[in-house]
Amino acid sequence: MSARILVVDDIETNRRLLEARLSAEYFDVVQASSGPECLEKAAETVPDLILLDVMMPGMDGFETCKRLKADPATRHIPVVMVTALDQREDRVKGLEAGADEFLTKPVNDVALFARVRSLLRLKEVLDELRLRQESAFGSEDGEADLDGSATVIVAAGDEQAAERLAAKLPREFAGRPMADPAGVVKAARAGAELVLIDISNAKFDALRVCARLRADTATRNTPIICVVEGDTPQEMVRALDLGVSDVVNRPVDPGELAARLRTQLKRKRYAEQLRDRLEESLEMAVIDPLTGLYNRRYMASRLRQAVDAWEASAERVSVILFDIDHFKRINDSWGHQAGDEVLRAVTARMGKQLRALDIAGRYGGEEFMVLLSGAAGREASEAAERVRAAIAREPFVMVSAGVTVEVTISAGVAEILHGDTPERLIARADAALYQAKAAGRNQVVVAQKKAA
Ligand SMILES: [Mg+2]
Repeated sequence: MSARILVVDDIETNRRLLEARLSAEYFDVVQASSGPECLEKAAETVPDLILLDVMMPGMDGFETCKRLKADPATRHIPVVMVTALDQREDRVKGLEAGADEFLTKPVNDVALFARVRSLLRLKEVLDELRLRQESAFGSEDGEADLDGSATVIVAAGDEQAAERLAAKLPREFAGRPMADPAGVVKAARAGAELVLIDISNAKFDALRVCARLRADTATRNTPIICVVEGDTPQEMVRALDLGVSDVVNRPVDPGELAARLRTQLKRKRYAEQLRDRLEESLEMAVIDPLTGLYNRRYMASRLRQAVDAWEASAERVSVILFDIDHFKRINDSWGHQAGDEVLRAVTARMGKQLRALDIAGRYGGEEFMVLLSGAAGREASEAAERVRAAIAREPFVMVSAGVTVEVTISAGVAEILHGDTPERLIARADAALYQAKAAGRNQVVVAQKKAA
């Protein structure tokens, strides 16, 4: 599916002109002739990008942009402001209103399409992150805040040029002037928040540095802003197609630079927040928060895989079900906090007795499951016995209740048999566990080699 672009301009000829050029590049174009119509169409059609005229009667481009960026439903749509004027105040005002880019009329095709491609790539990444985030949490995110200072690497062909450029940074950014390409890459890898790089100096192969930063996983998401000569659209296109985040024209205006730096930094922190929350949610989906072991859902899926592998290639697997003896008494006597402490302590002792490739999970309240791939019932029962002995060997100290408590554990072991389903394998291990409990607890029972 091609990208949908909303073209907003009060003059019909301008809209038609842009539509013709964008359609020729296979973009799907929607039009609006005023600010209010833009807001309406943006909410209704959810475009991938908005080309927004500045000078419009009534609600102008700045106000329209502010409203788009204030609405959570449209905040993430990139906005390119288009103006007949090349006024620096307008650029800064536009960027501060939340515009992602600024183009001057008459719009140069090469510049337009390079910008559009670059912004659409960025949107694709953010959309993907947001989608996964929403499917994990079912909620809309907030906006990243800008706080504290940020380290910016300022790179140019020579030290003096780098220092001059660094002097144009706003106060909240700490600039590090550099003129050595290898040094720039190294410093970026060490964790700079942003790289500002002058690509107008031929002595310094700045685009190669940009390409290296983009190819390296450590710096792939570090924003890069390039400084280019205003009259060389080819340079700008090459830079944007290499994946740099933004381009600013020489001579560099400090106000415009400040607005662009802030936009990039906000975007970076927003993407970081999304990534962090995503990782957290993926982890939460498989990990039991109390013990740090895999949860029941994950264990069930691994068990299903193990049974499939057994059917496909006779890859043997055994299961141990452990249950802490008289766990209810611990909770009743010392409280749930003490019970939680015992669960964590049992987990720690159990872990020391298992092989690295054994998969351990919390299967229920005080029940644990271990999957031992490649292990026969006898090896599994030896592992279960090691765990049982380690738990019974010495009492547990419960810091919260200030007491030590004897804890024992019972185990049922079952090896996979031909024709097994996950349910049947578990049912045999469970029956063995029941026998261990019935026979006096603190022991390991291996299931009979016939279906339960
Ligand atoms: Mg106009």
